[in-house]
Amino acid sequence: CGIVGYIGYREAYPIVIKGLKRLEYRGYDSAGVMLYDGENLKLCKTKGKVSDLEAKAVKEITTSGSIGIGHTRWATHGVPNDVNSHPHLSNSGNLAIIHNGIIENYAPLKEELIKRGYVFHSDTDSEVLVNLIEDIQIKEKLKLGKAIQVALNQVVGAYAIAVFDRNNPEEIVAARLGSPLAIGVGEGEYFIASDASPFIEYTSNAIYLEDGEIANIRLHKPMKIRKIKDDTLVDPYIQELQMNLEQ
Ligand code: GLU
Repeated sequence: CGIVGYIGYREAYPIVIKGLKRLEYRGYDSAGVMLYDGENLKLCKTKGKVSDLEAKAVKEITTSGSIGIGHTRWATHGVPNDVNSHPHLSNSGNLAIIHNGIIENYAPLKEELIKRGYVFHSDTDSEVLVNLIEDIQIKEKLKLGKAIQVALNQVVGAYAIAVFDRNNPEEIVAARLGSPLAIGVGEGEYFIASDASPFIEYTSNAIYLEDGEIANIRLHKPMKIRKIKDDTLVDPYIQELQMNLEQ
């Protein structure tokens, strides 16, 4: 299972697809992408291989865009099928999440959200998390990063996530606990991935998020990394990746 994200000035789709292929070695049963072109948010997801996703996307994705997230899923909650594949949208359709890991206490959280009027389309724990974030965002009038922080403090489990909010499209928020997450830092562009292999040819600067950290990855602005638990600001440590120039 793996996650890939891009925010910058290039076409996101080929970067995300190529990145997902580099993460195939991690194992998966389904794949999906979300693309945002400044106006439209497009989703394409399927059970099967990244090559199946490409075949489907040729027919379904007409939009291009310089913001994208992609996911390869190793099902833990809900069978491998198109609907359970990621990304998952929140009920308003504004938030999109990709998630690797497990939300152990998803059942009581889901029950509570259903009482509050939320509807679920998949059997995944991840769709519960994206709606929990949305509920907190609306209820407490919080910005995306803060709402995610509050949500993650209610969650028991393991995760690497990336979340996009079409109401605030200059930003992707990423967080991790127990699953890996690397951020590639380019000039006017950022990459997010389970390891550095999806972005190695674009930048040699990488930040490896530590467990329990959340990153606000914003276009044309410095990245902010905080501890999810107590909100302390963390100094991002940018690591120089060794390029392997051998053929
Ligand atoms: N628990 C999530 C699901 O079943 C994510 C699985 C994964 O790590 O890919 O959809």
